[in-house]
This record gives sequence, structure tokens and C-alpha cells, in this order.
Amino acid sequence: MKLECVHCGQTRNWQQFIIKCPCGGRLEVKQDVTGLDGEKLKGIFRERLGERMSVYASGVWRYKELIFPELPEDRIVTKYEGNTGLYAPETIRKSLGIRGLYFKAQSENPSGSFKDNGMTVAVSHGRHLGYTRFACSSTGNTSASLAMYAAMGESSSYVFVPESGISQNKVLQTLAYGARVIRFDGTYDDGIAFLERHAKDLGLYVCNSINPFRIAGQKSIIYEAAQYLNWELPDWIVVPGGALSNVTAIGKGIEDLWTLGMIPKRPRIALVQAEGASPFHKMMAAGAEELRPEPQPQTVASALNIGNPPSWKAARRVLEFCRGVTCSVTDEEILASKQIIDRSGIGCEPASAASLAGLRKLMAEKVIDKEETALCILTGNLLKDTQVLSGMMEHERMVRSDLTVKGTERWL
Ligand SMILES: *Cc1c(COP(=O)(O)O)cnc(C)c1O
Ligand SMILES: [Zn+2]
Repeated sequence: MKLECVHCGQTRNWQQFIIKCPCGGRLEVKQDVTGLDGEKLKGIFRERLGERMSVYASGVWRYKELIFPELPEDRIVTKYEGNTGLYAPETIRKSLGIRGLYFKAQSENPSGSFKDNGMTVAVSHGRHLGYTRFACSSTGNTSASLAMYAAMGESSSYVFVPESGISQNKVLQTLAYGARVIRFDGTYDDGIAFLERHAKDLGLYVCNSINPFRIAGQKSIIYEAAQYLNWELPDWIVVPGGALSNVTAIGKGIEDLWTLGMIPKRPRIALVQAEGASPFHKMMAAGAEELRPEPQPQTVASALNIGNPPSWKAARRVLEFCRGVTCSVTDEEILASKQIIDRSGIGCEPASAASLAGLRKLMAEKVIDKEETALCILTGNLLKDTQVLSGMMEHERMVRSDLTVKGTERWL
């Protein structure tokens, strides 16, 4: 494994940590998978499904050969992340009229979001290099995940959280794991800029979304979905996008499986943004060359509230490879889809519901055909945002009380 600068192409070994190349370019994990035998790997991965206590019981480290083969096993900090449910709710499928529909519930991860799939790899890498102080800037789930793994690895964590536009639950969860939380008056993007300037002097290992080891770990989401589906992925993978690290990881994961001949066809990716924070979708829809950052992003889906996604170039490349499309959905559409997912018993936080909202929109626009099949990635847990939930329930109570017979309200 090597690290390669996406801008100048310079490579360096993985036994060091820098946030960015001195030229300013982002770093990417480059791993040559061409020498591996896909069929043999399937056998190894199948066998590991029976593990309970070793690192291979993790739904990330089960795929270690494709993620970080060089890392010594005894350096891994894991909570057996991944291993999340893959559901096929029949009622939702029927109401959409689509041939096949799946949900991959990354919300069932130990800290409640898909950030765990990547964070176990980044923190393990940092610990291996001898770091004991970890940091990130976050809209919430990244901090909670980092705080959890840092604590598991007997290290400390420092988390930069914007003063507004984030969920209280996520901050409380982060504090509970023992992180130092630094609230500041600014956006997620300002927090990143601060860390880029000062992390080195402060001796911090930075776990932001551009950390290449997080992206490598998040590839496991699509490996696991493929394995659970007998190595045949649906026609479409529908992913909500904020910083665009997840869509990048899923695209790279598909590329690995395709290169190794482990899947018979390449699924397409549909990336969904919230309308109030959709600079990437706008760029793609306009066929523009450059992304224009949105200085004041605004959406009920706090995990998508990012105006300047750092991974947009990588995301555009994977969308090209996977013949991807993009769309945006309104907050109303997100909440309506969230209610459908919650009532199916699966449940998710608002950002995750953008996937179903986007699928519905793309079906209405005939981009996705009802004869096709789709897999929606549910990124975060139902209890991640109880403020939004209270709002929804309050609204519902008012609507429902119109229908109740006087005196029975309290039973309903
Ligand atoms: C981080 C996050 C997203 C967005 O993922 P990106 O990699 O930033 O595009 C979506 N949903 C939830 C719940 C998240 O925590
Ligand atoms: Zn460079």
C-alpha cells in the first residue's frame, strides 16, 4: 500500500501521517489488488463469517486484504463494526413499484453511523504510528465515532464542532465517550481549515473525511452488501452525500470488486444531496468544471449540511466510473421518506432518508426504471437526532388529534 497525491502524483509510504501533500493535494490510498485471486478471497471472507472474537469478526477487517493488508493485527482497534443488517422491506418496495429494493443499515454500527467503518481503520493506523491524540472537525457523527475509537484505543480525542446546525444528541454522545469538544462560531469547513493549519504543531492525528484510511475502511460497506447478496449487487446503489467521502469509498469498493472479477456487473451509483446543501449536484447538473462552494448550507439533515465538500473531485471520478447520476431532495421529501423508513421498523436519521427520497425522485424522473433493483445506504441511527424527531411527532400529534373521538386522544 502507498499514499498518492491526487494533484501532483507524488507517492509516499503509509508509515507516516500528513493531512495533505505539501502541494496542497489530497492523499489517496493506492493499493494494487490485481495480484489477488477474487475467488480465493470469497472463500476466506466466507470462513470469517464464523469469527466472534478475533479482529476478523469485524465487518471491516473481514476484508482486510482489500483494505489494509500490511497493518499488524495486534494494532487494530475494533468494536466489531459493520456486520449491519441488509433488509428488503416488501411494503416499501411495493409502494414504489420497483422490482427489488434493499436497505443497508449502517445505522446499526456501534456508534450509530457508517463513520465507524472508516474510523476503525484511521484510528488503528494512527495508533500504529504511535499517536495518542486524535482530532476532527465534524457535523456530529464523525466526532462520536472518533471519540469512541479513541477511548477504545486508550487515546484522547479533540473534536471541533460548529456552534449551530448540528444535533445535540451527537455532541452529548461525543462528550460521553470522553472527548474534548471545542465549540466554535463557524462552519464545518472552518474547522477543517483550522486543523490543516495547526494539527502538525499540536501533534494531532486528523480523522477528517479526507483521511485516506477512513475512505479505505468505508469500502467495506459495499463489500459486505455484495457478500450478503452472494456477490451480485443491485442495479443501483443510492447514497446520501455531504462531504462525499462515502460515495467515493463505495465507488472505489465497486472498482475493486470489478477489477478482481468478484461481481458479474458494475452497479450504477445515485448520489443524493439535500437541496439546501447541494453544491456537487448543482455542478454536475450544470456540467460545470469546478465546484462552487455554498457559504451558508441549510438543511434539516445535519449530516449533509456541508457547503464545500472536500472530496468532490474523487467523487466525480467514481461517478464517471460507475456511470453515476446525482439529484437533490427537499427537507420535506427527506422527512416524508424518513417516516416511511422509521415505520418499516428499520429507522434512520434524516440524512439517511435522503437515499429513499432520491430513489423516489429518480424513479419519477424515469432515470431509475421500475424493472431495476436498488440498494439504499442508511447512514445513521434513528436516535441520532431527537430534536427533529420531536418536531415530527408534535406535527403528527396535531394532525392525528383532528381524527380522534373526544376523550380517546390519550390512548392514541
Ligand atoms: C457523514 C454522514 C453522511 C454524509 O456522508 P459523506 O461521506 O460526508 O458524504 C450522511 N449521513 C450520515 C448519517 C452521516 O453521518
Ligand atoms: Zn502533491
